[in-house]
Amino acid sequence: MTENTNLKIAVVGGGPGGYAAAFLAADLGMTVVLIDPEANPGGVCLYRGCIPSKALLHVAKLIDESAHAKNWGIDFAPPTIDLPRLRSWKEGVIKKLTGGLGQLSKKRKVEYVQGKAAFENSNTLRITKAGGEESRSFDRIILATGSRPSIVPSLHIDSPRMMDSTGALDLATVPESLLVVGGGYIGLELGTVYAALGAKVTIVEMQAGLLPGADRDLVLPLHKRLEKICSAILLNTTVASVKEEAGGIRVTFKDAQGQTRDEVFEKILVSVGRKPNSEIPGLDKTQVVVGNRGFIQVNKQLQTGDPNIYAIGDVVGEPMLAHKASHEGRTAVEAIAGHKVEFAPNAIPAVVFTDPEIAWCGLTEAQAKDANREVTIARFPWAASGRAMTLDRTEGMTKLLLDPKTERVLGVGIVGAGAGELIAEGVLAMEMGATATDISMTIHPHPTLSETVMQSAEVFFGTSTDIYRPKTASAS
Ligand code: FAD
Ligand code: NAD
Repeated sequence: MTENTNLKIAVVGGGPGGYAAAFLAADLGMTVVLIDPEANPGGVCLYRGCIPSKALLHVAKLIDESAHAKNWGIDFAPPTIDLPRLRSWKEGVIKKLTGGLGQLSKKRKVEYVQGKAAFENSNTLRITKAGGEESRSFDRIILATGSRPSIVPSLHIDSPRMMDSTGALDLATVPESLLVVGGGYIGLELGTVYAALGAKVTIVEMQAGLLPGADRDLVLPLHKRLEKICSAILLNTTVASVKEEAGGIRVTFKDAQGQTRDEVFEKILVSVGRKPNSEIPGLDKTQVVVGNRGFIQVNKQLQTGDPNIYAIGDVVGEPMLAHKASHEGRTAVEAIAGHKVEFAPNAIPAVVFTDPEIAWCGLTEAQAKDANREVTIARFPWAASGRAMTLDRTEGMTKLLLDPKTERVLGVGIVGAGAGELIAEGVLAMEMGATATDISMTIHPHPTLSETVMQSAEVFFGTSTDIYRPKTASAS
């Protein structure tokens, strides 16, 4: 293998795709410039995405769990919420992490430029920064410009009562009533946070169910819990119009039958998806091709239509997840270095960090049905898990989708407390080509929720120690 590491590389965008790419390129010996408007690397994920939302979700979980503790004979007084201190704790987490990435850039001798990049040609960027503009040329350029919230024109009014995810994470106030438009990842995660902090939350989703991409049996326990903590969950419903008035925003809902009704909310969070940041100035001076949904087109090496330019992360397509961006970033750099690589994961995990959490990887049941693919589904209900019982969280479920002939794991789905941590075993199983036998023969620690993965494999064989489900009844 010939190493091609004596190169000068620019990485445009300092999110989890961009900084992972920049750091690996430096580790391989390349000269690297990383360009981003913020003072330190981090991108959406660290400044206004994954990290602040998870910090707030942790707080929400604590509030809920302390209220729930009365079931175990422990009574806590209702919490007093000090918003400025909560905000400053969250900001502190962001500062530590992004500052740490700044330090790691320095240690690796990555030149970090705070600014915005535009193209002059396939090798030359014009960088606008505080001190003015400069043109710099590179052997290769990696685009990692990420994404931004989608805007729905009918919901677009200029009012401080309207928030996107960035505004919601700022946590300026806890409104008395909050409408969340879109029952996807952001709507459910941030809706949960505001509900725990005391807002009356209504969720409106235009599809027939929340989290349309996830299997229904995984969504059900979450839906049931959201019904308890939210004022209303409106499905098959859209927002026809919004109008600001003295006490809030008057919203007109339209249901599947075309019926309309009005309600006034103090604030609205719009979370209806994200759009790729592919409108990079001067991109038309290169051979980069942008597809009709706005994603930059790349091959399996993450190379665009322009041989000198690679693109990674949210800007190249779904799933728009931080770990996918980082993995693509590392693959692009290895491809540039001349390694024989391609981005072809067996599974990319998805985690919705609500309570309960939902996590899945590989094939979903809905995808198997759509593709008419024969699968055996082995489910282990957490009601039979000793660990779930000790946590008083028996609503969860772990399921494996298996090839009935080869017993190979094709997909894993988990709903329940900590599902986001548990799914990593499913991803490893899929990457290693594991079978139900491999999983059932792997000794899992007791009592843990991780046992439910092994127990699902035992269900496949009709021999689960903890539930009686003979083989004939195991397939569904
Ligand atoms: P980004 O992180 O979007 O970074 C792109 C960077 O490029 C930005 O800093 C941008 O300013 C910069 N940029 C753009 N144009 C230019 C230019 N011309 N010049 C220089 N710089 C430029 N994903 C998960 O996996 N787990 C989660 O828990 C999770 N939670 C999320 C919560 C929220 C509220 C949101 C909004 C997103 C969340 N995501 C989560 C998604 C995750 O944030 C993205 O998938 C991830 O950040 C994408 O990384 P990226 O490197 O492609 O781009
Ligand atoms: P999303 O695609 O997850 O969900 C958007 C939802 O809005 C969908 O259910 C859609 O049917 C609905 N919708 C669209 N238009 C609507 C309308 N006019 N009225 C009512 N409902 C409407 O998008 P998101 O929640 O904005 O999140 C964007 C992306 O960010 C996610 O897809 C994910 O890739 C990423 N993200 C990931 C995490 C995580 O990994 N935990 C967390 C947050 C965000």
